[in-house]
Amino acid sequence: MLNEHCQIECLDCGFQAPYHPLETVCPACGGAWRQATYDYAHLASDLPPRLKERAFDLWRYREMLPITQPAPELRLSEGGTPLIRALNLGMMLGCSNLFMKDERQGPTASFKDRQAALSISALKAAGVREVVLASTGNVAIAYSAYAARAGIKLWAFLTSLVPAAKMREVALYGTQVIKVTGSYDQAKQVAAEFARQRGIFLDTGARSITNIESMKTIAYEIAEQLGEVLEPPANGLGTTRPRWRAPDWYIQAVSGGMGPLGVLKGFREMYQMGWIDRIPKIGVIQVEGCAPMVNAWKQGREVAIPIQSPRTNIATLATGDPGRTYTLLRNWMLEGSGGAFESVSDEEAFRAIHFLAKMEGMSVEPAAAVACAGLIKLVRSGQIKPHEVVVINISGHTLPVERTILGEGWSRSVVVSDAMHVGAEEGLLAALSKITVDRFPRIAIVDDHPEARRLIRRILQSQGDYTLFEAASGREAIELARREHPDLIILDLMMPEVDGFGVIEALQAQPETAEIPIIVVTAKELTPAEKERLRGHIQSLMQKGDFLSDDLLDEVRALLK
Ligand SMILES: *Cc1c(COP(=O)(O)O)cnc(C)c1O
Ligand SMILES: [Zn+2]
Repeated sequence: MLNEHCQIECLDCGFQAPYHPLETVCPACGGAWRQATYDYAHLASDLPPRLKERAFDLWRYREMLPITQPAPELRLSEGGTPLIRALNLGMMLGCSNLFMKDERQGPTASFKDRQAALSISALKAAGVREVVLASTGNVAIAYSAYAARAGIKLWAFLTSLVPAAKMREVALYGTQVIKVTGSYDQAKQVAAEFARQRGIFLDTGARSITNIESMKTIAYEIAEQLGEVLEPPANGLGTTRPRWRAPDWYIQAVSGGMGPLGVLKGFREMYQMGWIDRIPKIGVIQVEGCAPMVNAWKQGREVAIPIQSPRTNIATLATGDPGRTYTLLRNWMLEGSGGAFESVSDEEAFRAIHFLAKMEGMSVEPAAAVACAGLIKLVRSGQIKPHEVVVINISGHTLPVERTILGEGWSRSVVVSDAMHVGAEEGLLAALSKITVDRFPRIAIVDDHPEARRLIRRILQSQGDYTLFEAASGREAIELARREHPDLIILDLMMPEVDGFGVIEALQAQPETAEIPIIVVTAKELTPAEKERLRGHIQSLMQKGDFLSDDLLDEVRALLK
């Protein structure tokens, strides 16, 4: 059950002891910050051939974990989430190697499942009957599910900011929910005091060996999955070793920072064992209203200054005091290939929710969208280069969709009973006809690349009702404008034969097409002379990457008014 090759090393005094689930501080100095080490020299060649026979789940890398045999009755199919290429988002951002690690597909729909699976297994093995924890929501949900299977009673201290739907989910599993009116850091203090008074085991977050070690498995999975996608094994050459491939970037939304700390540890171990040729840059993304790590990084500080009162509606990410996690993460990042700390607003995250759902078919909770909003920022600022291999952690899914995300007017109604008096078929048609208005604004999309037309079509269709026309060349565009009289033209500049400039000239030379508003969308940096040529002839000029900020839709709506 316990991994006898796992040694726990104190980060303060260096003392080493075998792993034991109930030992939460260093026996020599009392320090709470320790890390697991393994026999890397041996595992480097010993482990890879054994993986071939194993299922793709969290326990695949069991020799790298403090617990090697999960209790079968606890398992809920944890880990082993898919790595999905983000084609549309990648195209919009100009990044061809963008991947999403879909942690929503865990048993309780967030990456906290890994942590709960490993930690509850360890505590169950040690005979623990009750556990106290503080949570911004998802830890409590994940632990509750596993504690239910293990027959462990859980006390979850949640801040009153945690959405009610999540609190009810925690309660549903049989956990005692304690709502704390205060910040998450205060909830942690209350939980610790409660555990001390009652003598109940307290989950210690990023200081818990099992918590950090569980997060590592994300790194191992990514390296194996990328190895398959990016470098398919050569045919016939029976290599026993899987090919491992580290991304250039790992991007995650961060609260306390346990995820990136564990994931980075995983990549460092693989690097040390010679399985991968680089340690990825880490993109740590926080919300503006609670970004102690980002502030500290930008000010060059080794220790983060806690945020006393977080200002964000994204409760999952409201850790004001990252403590030593930040310092460890920063030092490792500086030793490795670095990375970036960036913050995004709640609004940017909410917009990213729409992109992920409407472009990639992924419904995510606001916290997960923070990573996506951060990715957009890092690409735009040039920190992430177009050719780099980027993995973003899609860390969690929330059902139901929170009201504030959709706003009003997202559904339409059909009343079938009205239809029934008139005679079934006719009445039904009449009822259905009310679902759509008669005339939608008519928009022509002109671009010689079919993929670019598809993308613009998707952006427009996803958030509005339009009748869309497409033209694949300048010549087609001119004919289309004369024939259909669209209300608006979205025009690419760089096209063979008649280019965008030519289209504008031709349309404006004819009275019946001269008044049609034009939005020019271009991937090219325009010269001052080209900008001058467009001035006064078009209504708006956009770079292709601008779509993501909703600018295109805003422009379209404004011009159609
Ligand atoms: C916990 C959580 C985070 C933040 O994770 P940390 O690595 O602990 O900072 C991000 N997204 C979701 C969905 C989470 O549940
Ligand atoms: Zn010590």
